[in-house]
Amino acid sequence: MLLISTRNSANILDPLSAVLKGIADDGGLYVPSSFPVLSEDMIEGMKGKSYQRIAADVLGMYFEIDDDKLARMTEDAYSGFSAKEVVPITELNDREYVMELYHGPTLAFKDVALQLLPRLMSEAISASDQAEDVMILTATSGDTGKAALEGFKNVPRTKICVFYPEEGVSDMQRLQMVTTEGNNTYVAAIKGNFDDAQTAVKQVFTDAECNKKINESGYVFSSANSINFGRLAPQIVYYIYGYVRLLEVGRIKYGDKMNVCVPTGNFGNILAAYYAKRMGLPIGKFICASNQNNVLTDFFDSGTYYSKRQFFRTISPSMDILISSNLERLVFEALSRDSVSTAALMKELKQTGAYNLKDATRVGLNGDFYADFCDDNATLDTIRRVFNKYNYVMDTHTAVGQAALEKYLAHTDDPNPILLASTASPFKFASDVLKAISGETVEDAFEASERLANVSGLSIPRQITELNWKQVRFKDVCERTEIDKAVFKFAEQ
Ligand SMILES: *Cc1c(COP(=O)(O)O)cnc(C)c1O
Repeated sequence: MLLISTRNSANILDPLSAVLKGIADDGGLYVPSSFPVLSEDMIEGMKGKSYQRIAADVLGMYFEIDDDKLARMTEDAYSGFSAKEVVPITELNDREYVMELYHGPTLAFKDVALQLLPRLMSEAISASDQAEDVMILTATSGDTGKAALEGFKNVPRTKICVFYPEEGVSDMQRLQMVTTEGNNTYVAAIKGNFDDAQTAVKQVFTDAECNKKINESGYVFSSANSINFGRLAPQIVYYIYGYVRLLEVGRIKYGDKMNVCVPTGNFGNILAAYYAKRMGLPIGKFICASNQNNVLTDFFDSGTYYSKRQFFRTISPSMDILISSNLERLVFEALSRDSVSTAALMKELKQTGAYNLKDATRVGLNGDFYADFCDDNATLDTIRRVFNKYNYVMDTHTAVGQAALEKYLAHTDDPNPILLASTASPFKFASDVLKAISGETVEDAFEASERLANVSGLSIPRQITELNWKQVRFKDVCERTEIDKAVFKFAEQ
């Protein structure tokens, strides 16, 4: 298994080296040179296996790591999850299944990948002969940052720097990040929104001068954002696992299609599902759900990606994104893996804020993808309806997915079961969830969590209560042009 860059298919690298590197020198993203094949026998053979075991099977198709070692890595990675099944699946009815990806240390789905990535990174460092340690640079819309900090804290030979938009994350998300422990962690707010933070980090990451300087301090840059192939691979696992569980309970038989619905921001999570399909998993439709920042809905409807639009802050902040970096990987596939055309479109995006797919390409995508979006009112309304009907509590992001799923069901007679990716614990966004289900307005996140526990009968996750007494360690606020200074200062500590 080798990886190639979306912007130059002659740019080839082995997967562990790509984990270290993050992004290709040509600015492209690493993708498999061809997809490993998941056969019927393999999928049938996964019945009865644990999540950890299935994860080792799937990762072994991408990474050259001994099976024993991989099995240990996946055991360790998921030992901190509070659910025994790692990603429990709840049946709402015989068409709608919710896969809860949020039982990890930071209560968001990103833990599934970010508990594993540092282990892959350590493996990559020891497999390489590189003398420098790794400096992880991360821009976050809220959840990545904390999940990356938890994954990398105290991991030898790494340091991690996280930048979050000053006004783009929830109180709970901010508190989670600024109270992070660990001897190799740094967190700062950045003036601007998520796209500003991501652009600023990407700039430092790719700048030759910055790279030279960080090398002199004894580091190389790498990334924990979902552009890193090491983030993507662990996310493929749960779609395969979900299919296997539906097989086990007899809801489907091998070959029957399952649809997936994913609340989407940077297009990483849903892309992992698409990769599972390319490996051979029988997936029908991908339902791509967006909030009011509906750049992806428009893209799938019109073939035009238009990022120069009004930016909305919503109650699903982890999806407040106008430049979905991982879409580049899908565009590469849609263009029949033509890296020259992909590079040209991405250049156009950078220069003009937009690009346009030819009709045939767009129509090809629409066979696989259905896209829809909803605003905050519809999100709250969905949380309330689902709670009243099923006594089931969804967070604001998952509810955006549910709203798109319902629109899809209303306009087709597609009988396939739909697996909805539930991406965050409702307690992470307690004020809004509480408002939706009981009508109460409680601003304070902790009070809201307590009320939510009372109203729903769920218990407050330990990760929330402990924020009450944890010390705030990080208070810096940077201009976007100054993050390089902050990084170099931290490197010297
Ligand atoms: C990151 C995140 C998303 C979006 O995932 P992408 O992989 O960026 O599409 C959705 N929901 C939550 C809660 C998240 O943290």
